[in-house]
Amino acid sequence: MRNQNSPFEILNAVFGYSAFQGHQEEIIHHLIAGNDALVLMPTGSGKSICYQIPAMIRRGVGIVISPLIALMQDQVDTVRQLGIRAEFLNSTLNPGEARAVELKMLSGELDLLYVAPERLVTSEFQRLLNQMDLALFAIDEAHCVSQWGHDFRPEYLQLSVLPERFPLIPRIALTATADPVTRREIVEKLRLEDARQFISSFDRPNIYYRVELKENEKAQLLDFIRTEHPEDSGIVYCLSRKRVESTAKWLCEKGLTALPYHAGMDQGLRLKHQRRFQQQERVIMVATIAFGMGIDKPDVRFVAHMDLPKTLEGYYQETGRAGRDGQRADAWMAYSLADVVTLRRMLDASDGDDKFKRIQQRKMEAVLGFCETTKCRRQVLLAYFGEELSRPCGYCDTCAGKVDTWDGTIVAQKALSCVYRTGQRFGAAYLTDVLLGKDDERICSFGHDLVSTFGIGAELSEREWKSVFRQLVAAGLLSIDIDGKGGFRLSPLSRPVLRGEQKFELRKDPVPIKSKKAPKPKNERIDLPADSTSTELWEKLRALRLDIAKKQSIAPFIIFHDSTLKEMVKYLPRSLEEMKEISGIGQRKLELYGEEFLALIQEHLEEHKGANQ
Ligand code: ADP
Ligand code: ZN
Repeated sequence: MRNQNSPFEILNAVFGYSAFQGHQEEIIHHLIAGNDALVLMPTGSGKSICYQIPAMIRRGVGIVISPLIALMQDQVDTVRQLGIRAEFLNSTLNPGEARAVELKMLSGELDLLYVAPERLVTSEFQRLLNQMDLALFAIDEAHCVSQWGHDFRPEYLQLSVLPERFPLIPRIALTATADPVTRREIVEKLRLEDARQFISSFDRPNIYYRVELKENEKAQLLDFIRTEHPEDSGIVYCLSRKRVESTAKWLCEKGLTALPYHAGMDQGLRLKHQRRFQQQERVIMVATIAFGMGIDKPDVRFVAHMDLPKTLEGYYQETGRAGRDGQRADAWMAYSLADVVTLRRMLDASDGDDKFKRIQQRKMEAVLGFCETTKCRRQVLLAYFGEELSRPCGYCDTCAGKVDTWDGTIVAQKALSCVYRTGQRFGAAYLTDVLLGKDDERICSFGHDLVSTFGIGAELSEREWKSVFRQLVAAGLLSIDIDGKGGFRLSPLSRPVLRGEQKFELRKDPVPIKSKKAPKPKNERIDLPADSTSTELWEKLRALRLDIAKKQSIAPFIIFHDSTLKEMVKYLPRSLEEMKEISGIGQRKLELYGEEFLALIQEHLEEHKGANQ
């Protein structure tokens, strides 16, 4: 049976939301009319509704192609809670179960079917599709078709057959990957040349970006988590498997719940950790970048990078997993110049050709530039993706604490000529020793105690020189030469500075302070009132939610999002009518849980009667 209501009525009654966001409404009408679409929207901006609503309105079943079978169960649970008829088909089902799902499809008893790409393209499944009405194809995580990305799925390439086999069925491809190269690849590989493109701003206004210099990064991480997120779920990204293991172990020793995740682990254990992270609260996942695609846990409150990411695309995607529910979230990173050298080495040892390495090298420099910037981080990040933010955001660390800069032209000249005089093969530590005129055997053995730059840098400390070298690399004046031992070489950009034709501005390294709490985002959907009775109610509501979730073996956020519970605390609904006004409560959830939550709120109010009057 098709849903006869309008998209807006469905948004209201089924999802419990009062207004469409961004391009949602346009996309929905576009699909209902039978057209194709390519949707580029950041994580958390509500992509799913763009195909769920049309699938309910159009005749037939909506086929959702999704790469991660581990998440299909959650996706199906989520929509079923809304009263949408959904199933999934993947290798976790036995033949009998699979057959049952297929029968439901054939008899028109389904709105949505989630399916893995490898199954979709089998001839058997294609035959099945030919026998039924199809509402649409939704290709989720469409960037998996890109051979350059680390999420590449070869099966996605075969999805190009869809327009030939089903020319009349609208397709919608969705991704949160922002860069134009990937976008072009999606269009080409999925044959979406005629699809209308809906591109949203990639800004994630509820994420607070901050970058710290590594001193003792584990201690810095712990400090950050303890001060800001002692009760929260988060992801900590590390560059290597070894570091994943050691960091997770260390956090556990400090009393937190941290689980490792990397590709070297047994598949079963990996899945178990992923499920725990997804379903429980207050779990920290420590992982390599192998973890994350398709993670649809909405209440990840922080993403931490223990090492410099390889590209800003990766950084954006990884940090994007925080705060999908629109509530405030943190992106935190610790980095050092040594990270750049490590990454450079890894890149050099990889088997890409020269062009690939050159591109990757440039991408790495962009990451370093982002770290070292004196400007608003959000502006730098968005500019990388070709989006202009007209004003500094006011919600990142550089916006919050003014970064002091100073004219470092002379200092830069000294550093650059020291690189040149010592033969362009040394790194920051050695060069600093030369500049400081250290009495060192190695320096003497090379005769570098005799070069003109020996001992001319006494005005800065060792630490300050290190910062200067880092900034010269970040600005592209020095490049790291990996053929040798990772020493610096002058790039053509250094010439105007050396000749005194161009100034070089340096930023003062921020003094590492005990991490201080990020300010509140201006746009936060809803915030908890600060008094203790509200906190108490909030905890009670969370406990009830957890209880219900456990009974059904599903994640708590599938019952209600944090923001929905917060609205309950704020508005204290006293009837089902009032309950219905809360965002995230549609008809079905009202029927399922309305009474229980109302009773709890009522009881709480009784208890505190008089206290607030
Ligand atoms: P994405 O797939 O883009 O990361 P989702 O589809 O998972 O995002 O949506 C993110 C969250 O935003 C979900 O909890 C969803 O229910 C919520 N959401 C989507 N559309 C709206 C809307 N119009 N109003 C309020 N919340 C919405
Ligand atoms: Zn900013």
